[in-house]
Amino acid sequence: MSLRSFLEEKETLNQTLHVTAPVSPRFEISAIMKHFDQNGPVLFFEKIKGYKNRVVANVCGTRERLSTALGVKPESLYQRLIEAWKNPSKPNIAKNGAVKENIVEKPKLSKLPILTHFEKDAAPYVTSAIIHAKSPNKGVDNVSVHRLEVLDDKHFAIRLVPRHLFKLWTMTKEEGKDLDVAISIGLHPAVLVAATSPVPFGVCEFDVANALLKNKFSLVKCAHVDAVAPAEAEIVFEGHLCVNKEVVEGPLVDITGTYDVKRNQPVIEVVGMMHRDDYIYQALLPSGNEHKLLMGLPHEIKIWEAVANVVPKVGAVNLTSGGCGWLHAVVSIEKQKDGDAKNALTAIFGAHPSLKHAIVVDMDIDVYNMEEVEWAIATRFQANEDLILIQNARGSTLDPSADQETGLTTKLGIDATKPISKPKEKFARARIPFSRNAEKVIKNLHAVWK
Ligand code: MN
Repeated sequence: MSLRSFLEEKETLNQTLHVTAPVSPRFEISAIMKHFDQNGPVLFFEKIKGYKNRVVANVCGTRERLSTALGVKPESLYQRLIEAWKNPSKPNIAKNGAVKENIVEKPKLSKLPILTHFEKDAAPYVTSAIIHAKSPNKGVDNVSVHRLEVLDDKHFAIRLVPRHLFKLWTMTKEEGKDLDVAISIGLHPAVLVAATSPVPFGVCEFDVANALLKNKFSLVKCAHVDAVAPAEAEIVFEGHLCVNKEVVEGPLVDITGTYDVKRNQPVIEVVGMMHRDDYIYQALLPSGNEHKLLMGLPHEIKIWEAVANVVPKVGAVNLTSGGCGWLHAVVSIEKQKDGDAKNALTAIFGAHPSLKHAIVVDMDIDVYNMEEVEWAIATRFQANEDLILIQNARGSTLDPSADQETGLTTKLGIDATKPISKPKEKFARARIPFSRNAEKVIKNLHAVWK
C-alpha cells in the first residue's frame, strides 16, 4: 500500500513510460509532463541531471488510474470516497517503517530534485506534499495539501489558505510556539486523495486514508518533531511552521494555469528528514490533469450530493478540464418539473463556493464531452429565461478575472435542459438507423482509411 507497490502494478500493466535520457528538474521535466498531460502514462524519470534520485510524475493522472488505486471502477469512485469520509478509522502506529531507513540530521533541500515548473515561477516548488500537524492540546490531528516554495537549503514558504492547518497555526500562535509539521512526499494515491477530503476539523484525513486502504495503512512517529507520517512514504521533511516569520511567496502557476499573485506567507524551518533507500521524488504539475483531478474530485462529490437533495435524479458531475478542474461544473439531471434545473444550479453553487460557471444538462448529454454540452446550450437554452446571474458572490482567488484580494466574483448558471412544457420530439437528437450491412461496410472502409 505504498507508492512503490502502486508503481509496480502500473509497470506490469504497461501504463508507465520510462524516460532514460538525462533531464533537468528545471523546466525539462515539467515540459515533458505537460506534453503527456492528457490521459498520459505514469512518467518515470530515471536520470536527473545533477541528482542521484529518480522522479516519478503523473501518478494519478486519469480517473481510471485513480479508481483502480482505490480498488473500484470509475463509476463507483464517488461512492467509495463517500463511504471512507463517513467511516474514517484510526491507522496503526508502527514502531518502524520503510521511511525510517534513513534518518538525516541536517538535510539540504538543494540535494533533492525539486522541480521548477514554469518560466516565471519564483523558485523550485514541492507540489505533491501532504502535511500533518496536531493542535496544541494534541486533541486534533490534521492532514492537508500545500504548495511549498524552496527558499534556501532549510526553509520553505508555505501557502496557507484559511482552512484547517491555518486554524492549527493560529492556535499555536496564541501560545507563542512554532507548530511541528511532517511533510510527506511519495505516497500511494489513496493517501493523496484522502488528504483532500472535505471532512470536518477534528477528523484526521489519515483515518480516511486508512478506510480507503481497508485498514492496511500504517503511520510512524517522526524522528525530530511531534507529528506522524505514512510508514511507507518515500520522503518526510520534519519542520517547524514558524508563528512569527513570513516572506513573500510566489509567483507560481496554480490550477488555472496562470500565475497566482504574490502574498506574505509563513515559513517552515526544516529540522530533519527521513527517507527510504533510493527514494523516489514525486512530482505533480500545477494546472495539469492530475492537479485538477485531485483538487476537484472531492468538490464533484459534494456537488453530486447537494444536487441529489433537490432533484429526483443526478447523472454525473464534471469539473471540466477547460474550467481548470475548479471553476466550471457540468451536471446532468433527470428533471420532473420545469424549475428543477434552476434549483440544481443554486445547490451546485452552494456546494462548491469557488465555482464560477455551472451548466445543467439532461441525462442524454455526456457531461465529459464538451461538444455535446455545447450542443445542449445551442439547442435547449434561452438566455432570457434560462440564465442565473449572481453578482458580488465569493469565488476563487485563483481566478485572475475575479477580485483576487476580496475573492469577489460574478457567478453564472446555465439551464441547458429541455423545457418540459414543450414537445419532447423537438429536442431529441436525430438518429440514423444503423444496419448490420452499414456496420460491415464501415469496418471494411476503416481498414483502408485509418
Ligand atoms: Mn482537515
